[in-house]
Amino acid sequence: MAVFTDPSVTGYHTPGHPEAPFRVSKSAERLKAAGHALLPPEKPAADAELLRVHTPRHLETVAKGTFRDADTAFYPQIDAIARTSLAGALSAAGRAEKGEPSFSLMRPPGHHAAPEKVAGFCYYNNLAIAVAGIPGKKVAIVDVDVHHGDGTEAWAFGRENVTFVSLHQVPLYPGSGLKSRGNCRNIPLPPGTHETQYLKALEGALHEVLNSKPDLLAVSAGFDTYKEDPIAQLKLDAATYKRIGKMLAETKLPRFAVLEGGYAEALPLLIERFLDGFFD
Ligand SMILES: [Zn+2]
Repeated sequence: MAVFTDPSVTGYHTPGHPEAPFRVSKSAERLKAAGHALLPPEKPAADAELLRVHTPRHLETVAKGTFRDADTAFYPQIDAIARTSLAGALSAAGRAEKGEPSFSLMRPPGHHAAPEKVAGFCYYNNLAIAVAGIPGKKVAIVDVDVHHGDGTEAWAFGRENVTFVSLHQVPLYPGSGLKSRGNCRNIPLPPGTHETQYLKALEGALHEVLNSKPDLLAVSAGFDTYKEDPIAQLKLDAATYKRIGKMLAETKLPRFAVLEGGYAEALPLLIERFLDGFFD
């Protein structure tokens, strides 16, 4: 069981922006104190890996800052930091392939980033790129962030060997994910959804996912479903995250998860609880 992280990913922030450095620094402190092995990524991410999902134009726009997105700022160092975040996801996927459940504790997150679009605090789609690097296996992507994983769906839709399922609050940013299509299953949840309803929806989703007979599980782990999250309105308790992690572990599939959203001060605790179940 490995947690991949790197202190350099705390090196950008705009004051007042919820996607802040404490998300990784405080979580790393807490996981270390709880006895988790924190490791740096095993190797840097290469252009060839980014190009499995993104276009050359997209790589150029992130490096030069020629994109425009109201939520997603340009920083001169963001290309390097986003690549470190990706490297964590790639390392976690590599461990999962060897049968070791793993977690990438990094930022920026990735699930809103589409092949040619920066969006919603995301520059490169860490999870999609990691899944694209697992050839010859059927992969089930489960996105439990409170927001629809629109960037991941844009890549996954119609792709053989990939099943995508997203549970998310509606109405909420980015406004998509109202209906399922093809290999992409979307489960909209109303504001105020609490543990019982949430776990029931997740159970149904996992049941469908297992029907596709996947070889591996890739999880977009967002924690903005928490009752005190400042930017969404679901009502999960801290204890719920252990149950979510455990339900994912009970699939008995090789698995890895990457950090997506989660903006409450309690994030380090929520991640610790999730790993208590996910690594079980
Ligand atoms: Zn989110």
